[in-house]
Amino acid sequence: MAEAPAWAVQLAEQVCAEASVPAPQLRWLRRERDTSSGVTRRSSGTVAVVAGTDEVDQRLTLLHELAHWLVPAAFRRRRRVAAHHDARFYATAFELYRRHGIPDAAALRCEGARYPSALRHARALRMPGAEEAWRRHRAGLRERAMARPPLRVVVPEHRVRLVRDGRWTRCSVCGVRVVGPVLRRMRRRGGSHVLLARS
Ligand SMILES: [Zn+2]
Ligand SMILES: [Zn+2]
Repeated sequence: MAEAPAWAVQLAEQVCAEASVPAPQLRWLRRERDTSSGVTRRSSGTVAVVAGTDEVDQRLTLLHELAHWLVPAAFRRRRRVAAHHDARFYATAFELYRRHGIPDAAALRCEGARYPSALRHARALRMPGAEEAWRRHRAGLRERAMARPPLRVVVPEHRVRLVRDGRWTRCSVCGVRVVGPVLRRMRRRGGSHVLLARS
């Protein structure tokens, strides 16, 4: 494992000092591609970055992980999954990007490429350029949706009838496997199905 470069150590120390939290231990790896990625482990007190060759993306990735370090993930009560990239997180992350030399356009491009939901948060935060980036993203989704063949009904709407099939449970009418929260709901209250496919 390579040692983290001096600028990264300094940046982590500065960000954490400004937020009055102890700095994490930095782990640094390099790889031969443009983009970087990172992982923050609060339990071991580390931020690990796999650094690509794009310097702005390296810096943004480190700041993204430092935002995780500063903003512990809130747990959604209903589904009990951590909300890693929520509005609270992005308020901190975009603020860090701005304060530490990431141009808004680069922040939108890099975050939007990884987590399209970032654009929605950036727009809510009224970041310059966010409205346009968000519209472009939506237009792209619409275009892709229109390029897909239409859905057709394979099995018309029916009451679900659950049957066991080895370790799985299926609907005996359409054969679809039913799992997880849907299965629990179907067991309690029943429900209906339509089986659709792209032609
Ligand atoms: Zn993240
Ligand atoms: Zn069915």
